Amino acid sequence: MADNIRVRYAPSPTGFPHIGNIRTAFFNWLFARSQGGKFIVRVEDTDQQRLVPGAVDAILDGLEWLGIDWDEGPRVDGPYAPYFQSERKRLGHYQRAADQLIAQGRAYRCYCTRERLAQVRDEQQKEKQSIGYDRQCRDLGDQERSDLDAEGVPSVVRFAMPASGITEVDDLIRGHVEWQNDLVDDFVLIKSDGFPTYHLAVVVDDHAMEISHVLRAEEWLSSTPRHLQLYQALEYPPPRFGHLPMILGPDRSKLSKRHGATAITEYQDAGYLPDALKNFMVLLGWSLDDQTDVMPMPTIIENFSLERVGKPAAIFDLERLQWMNGVYIRQLSAQELAIAMTPFLERDLPAELQPIDHEYLLRIVPLIQERLKLLADSAQATSYFFADALDYDSANLVQKGMDQAGTQNALKKAEDALGMVDTFAPAELEQTLRAVGEELGLRPREFFGALREAVTGRSATPSLFEVMGVLGKDRVLARLAAARDYLSRT
Ligand code: GLU
Repeated sequence: MADNIRVRYAPSPTGFPHIGNIRTAFFNWLFARSQGGKFIVRVEDTDQQRLVPGAVDAILDGLEWLGIDWDEGPRVDGPYAPYFQSERKRLGHYQRAADQLIAQGRAYRCYCTRERLAQVRDEQQKEKQSIGYDRQCRDLGDQERSDLDAEGVPSVVRFAMPASGITEVDDLIRGHVEWQNDLVDDFVLIKSDGFPTYHLAVVVDDHAMEISHVLRAEEWLSSTPRHLQLYQALEYPPPRFGHLPMILGPDRSKLSKRHGATAITEYQDAGYLPDALKNFMVLLGWSLDDQTDVMPMPTIIENFSLERVGKPAAIFDLERLQWMNGVYIRQLSAQELAIAMTPFLERDLPAELQPIDHEYLLRIVPLIQERLKLLADSAQATSYFFADALDYDSANLVQKGMDQAGTQNALKKAEDALGMVDTFAPAELEQTLRAVGEELGLRPREFFGALREAVTGRSATPSLFEVMGVLGKDRVLARLAAARDYLSRT
């Protein structure tokens, strides 16, 4: 029943979130939104040694940027904060669960030193045995334990895995999976610093938060028998599990920076639109009908289901993401795109060209919208509209088949003719300039090529007449004069 669907995103702030982490968050969010369930964010920060400064902010900023919002958490007059396990530790519920397991004989204190554990591992490696704790402390007598405790020997709490039998799960994505219990070692529940491990904290909190479905990356599948054993021992009803497919690079190797997959904040800096990134991400494992690429968010939410999440690894293709972003950029209104581009123009255009004239930008937008793939290319795509002076190059200004004097003359004639045009509209500009070109006996490629270089400083731009229309009479005339002046000095 929809009311009972409760899912969570449980990031560990041990690094900056990448596309795989955020895909997990997004699929959980989509599942909750599509089922009318609840989505929770719980920061799993119990591994104090591995905390990376700034990682929590990067995770939360990434979620906010993408509009992945959550429905519960502590709050004081404002939006919900996420849960933090380091704060929840004060509730004492992790320790209580461990104590209960010790009392039931399902967990025990282990006093082995780091050195001993390393030695055991080395030997297992040498003997080609499976690696894991050899259970030396599992059978210590009561007296031995109290002596060790009295001596103050540091200890951890380990789970006593059943020595036989199997643990099985009907994974919502991977199907039936089973593990031999004797191959799973006695894992740690409480570390010597008193903090719970991930395994204990995740089970205790998923239970406490009444999580109905654990949807997480496939790399966690191997932890599932541990979790299921804990559910059983603690007499908690287990949630359903669904392990999301791996994400690989186009060469089918593990996804990495090399494939263009970077921290989520870098997608923001590069100028991806949140909706484009979400549309791209949903296809990393889910499909509507095996063919539709571009889908508005309501369609995705309406149709999202775990049945259509595939088992095979998903391929991360940066080119596809860029293409998708272009599609979403083209769907924006001029106003929306101008607003989206503004922070990038503020970031990348020189200070003396600031502030950006919004009305002017609104007129530029339709000219560049078709080709723009990344908002981070905004300055590059539009700088010649804003520049006070252009960087000319005579090798470009003087077109093939023309010479310097001819170019200067052509620019002068254009300037004179345009000086008499009142409405700087593309059709009129074209008509006027074609006539000038013909009069001069120049080919359109030559004449318009020279004009384009003179008014934009570039050899490729959107339609010359439209660009001139937006630049306006004053700028165009000034640039034609500046180009002539440049030529007269070279
Ligand atoms: N804290 C784990 C992580 O960093 C969560 C795994 C899970 O969802 O159980 O991904």
